Amino acid sequence: MTDEEDKLKDYKAKRDFSKTSEPEGKEVKSGKSIFVVQKHDASNLHYDFRIEMDGVLKSWAVPKGPSMNPSVRRLAVPTEDHPLDYAEFEGVIPEGEYGAGAVIVWDTGTFRNMKADKEEDKGRMTLEESHEEGKMELFLDGEKLKGGFALIRTGGGKKPRWLLIKMRDDFVDEGSPITEREESVESGRTLDEVRGQE
Ligand code: MN
Repeated sequence: MTDEEDKLKDYKAKRDFSKTSEPEGKEVKSGKSIFVVQKHDASNLHYDFRIEMDGVLKSWAVPKGPSMNPSVRRLAVPTEDHPLDYAEFEGVIPEGEYGAGAVIVWDTGTFRNMKADKEEDKGRMTLEESHEEGKMELFLDGEKLKGGFALIRTGGGKKPRWLLIKMRDDFVDEGSPITEREESVESGRTLDEVRGQE
């Protein structure tokens, strides 16, 4: 068993692939660092924030979705690693299945680890190291989300909570919440349209 397969153990255990059209997680390497934010109308509407790390998508559920306003801190709850090809998944997870409900690709693009750029004595870290430390700084280059975002782990224990916070830079938008832009960047469809079409 490869590392990737092992990391996807939880993902696979939760799903019945004869019923859901979600990807089974074939091994893929994107060749770049991708991120995706999927808007997911499960029992509670939320945004799944995922970044490529170690051959899988590290994932957090963000109930209120990301904000471009640095004074807004958004709760981000870690969820199981997802396969890389999940980044393109859009559709309806059938009733009775894990995460039942419609999913759209709300935003996607590439990112870079801002801590990789820092000088050694100012805390240069790999993505994995910053994840381990619970203080990540990601520069997102999406269609909706742009600029620096911090992901900070708060508290420890078995159910750690993280905060997703816009860092101060030229991309800050303190005005209209970006979540007003509802449509998929992949298909232009809204959650309601995906729900109605599948
Ligand atoms: Mn979800």
